[in-house]
Amino acid sequence: MPDYRVLIAANIVKNFGEKRALDGVSLELPRGQVVGLLGPNGAGKTTLIKIILGLLLADAGRVYLRTQNGEAPVAPGRIGVVMEGSRNYYANIPVITNAVYFAALKGVAAREAAERFRRWALRFGLEEEVLEQPLATFSRGMQQKAALAISLLHDPDFVILDEPTLGLDPESRLELEKIIHGLAEEGKGTLIASHDLGFIQRTADRVVFIRAGKVILDDATAQLIRRYEKPWYLVRTASDLQEMPPGWRESGQWRQRDERTLLFTGGWQELRQYICAEPELEVVAVQKETASLEDIFMEIQEEAGNVDAP
Ligand code: ATP
Repeated sequence: MPDYRVLIAANIVKNFGEKRALDGVSLELPRGQVVGLLGPNGAGKTTLIKIILGLLLADAGRVYLRTQNGEAPVAPGRIGVVMEGSRNYYANIPVITNAVYFAALKGVAAREAAERFRRWALRFGLEEEVLEQPLATFSRGMQQKAALAISLLHDPDFVILDEPTLGLDPESRLELEKIIHGLAEEGKGTLIASHDLGFIQRTADRVVFIRAGKVILDDATAQLIRRYEKPWYLVRTASDLQEMPPGWRESGQWRQRDERTLLFTGGWQELRQYICAEPELEVVAVQKETASLEDIFMEIQEEAGNVDAP
């Protein structure tokens, strides 16, 4: 059996009549990694996913798998998917029946499918007694977990989730986060299209940002966040500062943000000297000010501005 390593979409172009929805988009999804697919409404995320899944034909470009020895076409059995809105189950029949039915479509025998589903359900925190109930009776979070479990029954190498956090409460979102980390540990490559940037920041190893059908950014999440780090330190004190030490104020390197937070622009050694020279001042935290993915998203949007608005 070939060793599928990376799912690749290369130079995908897709037009809907006059409208160019994708204009040469490329994306790589390695196994064992989580990739976040970001972009404003209408950027082309769902179109790209549908092309990867073979539900839409691209006008140009290729989707294929890189293996140890070369390339292979994408067999549907290698991908598991949960699309936004369209559920991969029938809501009015028991969840376990759904699981067996949909797994059968992917060639998994009934007993094996039921066993696998029970294992996933246990890991996802779905109790045994709910498995005989229709999915319509489940909460949004449980439905999402059941849909994900069903999508994993044929043991795909790659998983695609379109807006998986839509309608989830914070607790279910946290659970989903853990599940996604678990999928990566198992060696599955997971692509998540989402507007939930906090979720993507916590789960994705890499983010691909598309806008008006073009990739405008493709970077490792940690690296991206470091790149947008502010050139100053946040220095927090234990108690309210009535006023800044005079030497600090006069240096021009310090600014006060609020009663307990100062901003220092300069190097680490210099900062240490300032702090050591004021032993009375109880500094409780020093950190570089970082940008969230949300800040970065807004900044990139502004940079792209009106130049190529959809
Ligand atoms: P959202 O975040 O709102 O889900 P998206 O990034 O998934 O957006 P797509 O749904 O892929 O964006 O749409 C990309 C562009 O292609 C949009 O301008 C959309 O109107 C257009 N489009 C998508 N599907 C079709 C279709 N079947 N016929 C015509 N135009 C379409």
